[in-house]
Amino acid sequence: GIRVRGLEKSFGGQHVLRGIDFESARGTSTVLLGPSGSGKTTVLRSLNALEVPERGVVGIDDVEIDFARLPPGKAGRRQSERLRAQSGMVFQSHNLFPHRTVLENVIEGPVLAQRRPREEAVADAKVLLDQVGLGDRVDAYPFQLSGGQQQRVGIARALALKPRVVLFDEPTSALDPELVGEVLAVIRDLAAEGWTTVIVTHEIRFAEQVADQVLFLDGGVIVEKGTSAQVIGDPREARTRRFLKRVL
Ligand code: ATP
Repeated sequence: GIRVRGLEKSFGGQHVLRGIDFESARGTSTVLLGPSGSGKTTVLRSLNALEVPERGVVGIDDVEIDFARLPPGKAGRRQSERLRAQSGMVFQSHNLFPHRTVLENVIEGPVLAQRRPREEAVADAKVLLDQVGLGDRVDAYPFQLSGGQQQRVGIARALALKPRVVLFDEPTSALDPELVGEVLAVIRDLAAEGWTTVIVTHEIRFAEQVADQVLFLDGGVIVEKGTSAQVIGDPREARTRRFLKRVL
């Protein structure tokens, strides 16, 4: 599972995270909702140390970082890398290697970064590509795929590293509207299958379906957290109600 305690982060003089605390049990999906600039992406990026908060603790299963005590230099980088290896990240846009096939894109991490045998990585990648509905496109190049298909390759690539948790940063916000559904469906299947996921999204109906836990952020604090039925269906806080009224 995931443990987050007391995250504080500033950019320049701007205090962007003001004490973020939450936990996610293994096998559950946590969705971060909130207005633009509330700090959702910064929380997500702190979970894999792509962002380094000034204070706070992040733990994923048996790896934990106390950011206030992160040693300088190489030792600190090694700690960040250990935390990062616990998660796979799916970005707004896929960042696939354009001159490599779908299959090559998916096996690159396992083979190069994790030094797993190529045949094993290929077999695993084919299973994952099947799972995201691209079993028949393994030899295609990214430019031959739709945006939704490219994004699904990005998901397979994140899963290929066998991470403990999968982090999604607005995975559908760069897609044409008609391609959003197919990507959300894949994420919903992963959550149902028992992957531990943390998802930043503006798709409230999707959040409602997929989330075991919803965190509503505003101004760098978690204003409200609970089940999706509670936070989306029956919000307690005025700020949550205002936000939902605006976006639904
Ligand atoms: P959105 O829904 O628009 O993506 P968000 O809730 O994900 O917003 P963040 O991206 O976490 O919000 O940003 C929170 C605040 O921190 C914003 O005011 C943003 O401008 C600022 N910020 C984020 N990253 C940086 C950075 N690298 N340098 C400076 N300011 C940053």
